[in-house]
Amino acid sequence: MQKFYPGRTVSGLAFEQVLRRRFSLIDDDYYSWLNKLKLRKKVEMFWWRLGNSSIPTNLYLKNRKLLDNDSCARGCVLVENYEHIIVQCKYFIEIINQLVGWGISIPIFHSLDHCLKELKKISANNLGTVQIYCTIFFFSWKNRNEIKHGKTTLPSYVVASNVLSVTINKTSPSLSNWSTNLLRQSHVSWCPPPKEGMKINIDASLTTSGLAGIGGVFRDCNGRFILAFWEKMMHWDIAQLEMGAILSVKDYVKSWMRDYKGVIVESDNINVINYIQNSLEQNKGIMKFNLVRDSLFVNDFNKVVFLHAYRKCNKVANLCATMALENSFYFDSFSFDDIPPLMASLIKEEYHPFDVYN
Ligand SMILES: [Zn+2]
Repeated sequence: MQKFYPGRTVSGLAFEQVLRRRFSLIDDDYYSWLNKLKLRKKVEMFWWRLGNSSIPTNLYLKNRKLLDNDSCARGCVLVENYEHIIVQCKYFIEIINQLVGWGISIPIFHSLDHCLKELKKISANNLGTVQIYCTIFFFSWKNRNEIKHGKTTLPSYVVASNVLSVTINKTSPSLSNWSTNLLRQSHVSWCPPPKEGMKINIDASLTTSGLAGIGGVFRDCNGRFILAFWEKMMHWDIAQLEMGAILSVKDYVKSWMRDYKGVIVESDNINVINYIQNSLEQNKGIMKFNLVRDSLFVNDFNKVVFLHAYRKCNKVANLCATMALENSFYFDSFSFDDIPPLMASLIKEEYHPFDVYN
């Protein structure tokens, strides 16, 4: 096979054959399809290089006698060819699974041919899914290169959140898309918001005597503490109290916080979150219903998304609300040292000091 195509590797040729089956390279079908995907320039360039079979996988390098070992750089004991990096690599699949865990359905394919065939099909009516898939591949390859260069890699949830921050900004700026289709909930532990975002966790507690408290904590994409508050009050209805906790956020929003690209507000009260999400959906992201419209902070930011969080993902806010049964308090990053030790250690536990990609 190689004698007809000097300079091309077997892996490159195999990829080209699959491409040719799915796209007519003669008509530049692949490239015009790529163009229609409206990917970020860097991501598009990467897929363009893929079409030229010029991504230097370990098999590619071995075929050029530049490397002895052609197995996956991430440590799967499999040949690192195009099919492996685009479809099979377990680290690639780990990123998809992370997104699926957040409620974003991204398909897993069984072969390169299956992948291209389906991506082409899906792109006809669900561009977003294809954009996310293509972007996962880009970031996954970047991560793989970090290992190759002896650096540490980013955990899959950071890569997944970077993928989202790139694709969401690009394609679906509207509130409703962000809130209802993407980023549902983490099941395991508190998860930082996408790059340049802020997350606000809210909770309320209520005793049988009507003693009540609401609390919240603001953190950035690394889990860095921004501020925490808790307020003691008297109340009888937990759902109203939880809604009140969300509305109280506006009292703590500072003008500089508008620089965050998006804000995720999480509460573990699913009824309240469903109520807000449904209202947003019905109004296509336009706040018509009184309670949230009155909560000015929603209009202060580019994007505000309301998500349900499992209790174990809402620990700090839960502690704030519990402390509120005793007294009211407010801390910002300047007064972090005065925060009660239990809370400080919880915040440190959920700190994610990983660099994010540009
Ligand atoms: Zn692998």
